Amino acid sequence: MKITFLGAAGCVTGSKTLLQFGKTKLLIDCGLFQGFKHLRELNWAPPDFAPRSLSAVVLTHAHIDHSGYVPVMSARGFKGEVFCTPGTEALCRILWPDAAHLQEEDARYANAKGISRHAPALPLYDTRDAQKALTRLRDVAPGKAFIVGSGQDRVTCTFIRNGHLLGSAMLLVEAGGARLVFSGDMGRPVDVLMRAPEKLPECDYLFLESTYGNRLHSTTDVTEELAMVISETALAKGAVLIPTFAVGRAQALLHLIMELKAQHQIPDIPVFLDSPMAREATEAYVKFSREHRLTKAQLRAITEGTHIIGNQAESMNLAKLRGPHIILSASGMATGGRVLHHLARMAPNAKNTILFAGYQAGGTRGAKLVAGDAWVRIHGVDVPVKARVEQIDGLSSHADWQEMCAWLKASKVPAPQQVFLMHGEPDAADAMRLHLKDELGWDASVPMLGQKIDIS
Ligand SMILES: [Zn+2]
Repeated sequence: MKITFLGAAGCVTGSKTLLQFGKTKLLIDCGLFQGFKHLRELNWAPPDFAPRSLSAVVLTHAHIDHSGYVPVMSARGFKGEVFCTPGTEALCRILWPDAAHLQEEDARYANAKGISRHAPALPLYDTRDAQKALTRLRDVAPGKAFIVGSGQDRVTCTFIRNGHLLGSAMLLVEAGGARLVFSGDMGRPVDVLMRAPEKLPECDYLFLESTYGNRLHSTTDVTEELAMVISETALAKGAVLIPTFAVGRAQALLHLIMELKAQHQIPDIPVFLDSPMAREATEAYVKFSREHRLTKAQLRAITEGTHIIGNQAESMNLAKLRGPHIILSASGMATGGRVLHHLARMAPNAKNTILFAGYQAGGTRGAKLVAGDAWVRIHGVDVPVKARVEQIDGLSSHADWQEMCAWLKASKVPAPQQVFLMHGEPDAADAMRLHLKDELGWDASVPMLGQKIDIS
């Protein structure tokens, strides 16, 4: 069996691992490279194999860095099936058209400004490519085995819930007597939305993520921080703007806000969700209510307690609001989306609070605001930042290294023959390697991008 590391090796994006077993060629995750330019350029490179030659693609979850390259594969001739859980399928239907739309916008912008090296600049894929790729999705419930390939070359796959996102799962692959587990992004033992990951099954080869290999999550109480920021802003007669990721994070925040209201820890001020994608994602969480921790009553509290904003005109109308209120809008790092016009309007008022609810990548507006910049440039205009800017940590959906080691220990499995650490910056992956040695006595290695290995 051959494994080729085509992404998320030495970095945290572009997850793609090719497994070849006889004539069967399986691509595990099919993600876009994001972030730094040298990584994003890899999205444009021809794939290391003919897309047509793949037997199937299997997705561990819907995040774009794990699923967003499927439309490229499909546009380049891949005609096979893309297996995923029902929850992942629902989220891909929301995320891929949005990713296509963003790329079309970027290409239009580059053409208008004449800043592309290519004339005309083209999107990596367009909405039609995304729609075509969606027809390849085949959902399989977690725990139910499915087969790729045939005869002696057949490979049996099973999804096992891993608590990272709606529909997320690790993947158990059985082929020729060997058992391989691909962890995907691992969730945490305690999460606002998701149940704890199921146990790791016994395996010969483990491909483990290591995003938080050298970091621990903060132990401060997110709910308390949120209550304090909202209450203080409301008392000052200001409004709270929460830039948020539309899928997962927005639903977690809405749930926490509704709980705080029910417990009278914050005043009963109106809450607006202004993101079409977050609205659709919320509907997916309602539909797949058995796939997460929220009860029917808690979901109802979210849908009944939130004013859902529809079109752009309604979004602009929020400017007329008077008195304390909360607006949640995407994107989470204020790099684009409807949150920008709220930010331009709300940042100059000292009574307001801009509350970031997650990690802010370097270079984004979010990172600059959190660092205390006095001005923020939005749609070509410099806007003064007088509002209070806060950041809450602790809503991450990745296990940190301690949580990961505790989960591995609790799984009570013998040491795999080999452990490969994926999906980590080099320092994080190497730190995770040392933690696995110290905590479990397991040896692990960190593969390089493009590396091929032969196993069993
Ligand atoms: Zn993820």
